[in-house]
Amino acid sequence: MNKRDYYEVLGVSKTATDDEIKSAFRKLAKKYHPDINKDPDAPAKFKEAQEAYAVLSDKNKRAQYDQFGHAAFENNGMGGFSTGGFDFSDFDIDLDDILGNVFGGGFGFSGGRRKSSSRKHRGNDLLKSINLSFEEAAFGCEKDLKIDVNSKCPECNGDGGFDKETCSKCHGSGAITSEQRTIFGAFMTKTTCPTCDGAGVTYKKRCTKCRGTGFVKENKTITVKIPSGIDNGMRLRLSGKGEASPDGGENGDLYLEFSVSKHDFFERNGDDIILEVPINLAEAALGCKKDIKTLSSIITLQVPAGTNSGDKQRIKARGIKNSTTGNTGDMYIIFKVITPSKLTREQKNILEKLNETNLNTSEIDRFNRFVEK
Ligand SMILES: [Zn+2]
Ligand SMILES: [Zn+2]
Repeated sequence: MNKRDYYEVLGVSKTATDDEIKSAFRKLAKKYHPDINKDPDAPAKFKEAQEAYAVLSDKNKRAQYDQFGHAAFENNGMGGFSTGGFDFSDFDIDLDDILGNVFGGGFGFSGGRRKSSSRKHRGNDLLKSINLSFEEAAFGCEKDLKIDVNSKCPECNGDGGFDKETCSKCHGSGAITSEQRTIFGAFMTKTTCPTCDGAGVTYKKRCTKCRGTGFVKENKTITVKIPSGIDNGMRLRLSGKGEASPDGGENGDLYLEFSVSKHDFFERNGDDIILEVPINLAEAALGCKKDIKTLSSIITLQVPAGTNSGDKQRIKARGIKNSTTGNTGDMYIIFKVITPSKLTREQKNILEKLNETNLNTSEIDRFNRFVEK
């Protein structure tokens, strides 16, 4: 028998990596697997690829083959290097492993281990932008979102059809066992029944509402609790709330990305709140009591006499209570002294009189001396 070169069989070069060899074999296995390819030559081609793969995927056997060619594995060639201990029982390929992966995607090759549900596809992950007001972000809130979910088809109760019958191909077992003889011995392969897709039953009449899938897509409104302390650009993952699966599998995940609106007065720095408090000249010079708003209440600040623009006060634990981190931020007050741009005659007179007294501080005196020098 004229045996083809193993590298040629797999269509790879002599220097191919293990991954290249595995991938080449998968392609061929997928093409020639007797469950898929009904061509009369397919079983022979499949066996040939299987044999080539068994040798080339094994480091030692590949080395022997590179040195001695097919003679390395033929009975009449064994004598020369029997110490190598080539027994054909060494050649086992985990077909489940190789082909299970190949056919796992939808050819129904379950290897007897996979439940039919695991072959279903997960829906895509989705990203949704959510706008929050400053307060919603600070306090947390609830939002109603519309999502697609798969529900059991009400028409056929999830069966996908009517008039149930035992599958005639697998007689209800859901699997087909076949024996493949190769030079390495017989492989028993168990495949998911292609007729009933592993269910063991078939239906005389297909459900038209769900087109035989057993599920229908539904648009559902869910209420999502947004934790307090969300900041601009943050993301939240909602497991299983993404796109519905195309075939009744799990939903993908839903990611919410937040943008938080600016507040007219409050500013945020993480969980801290910054509030600029404007005061007039007299309040700044004399000091005063000033009502301000925190996130949750109105409090009275004592503005000290001699306050300048930019002076700060910290009010502990009046920032955002972040429910994700458990942290509570502080509030920072920044004073801004507002000088009036328009004065009444009376105010002008008073200020002129005031200016005739010595209002200069040591800081102003120091500057004046610097200019006079
Ligand atoms: Zn069946
Ligand atoms: Zn249905």
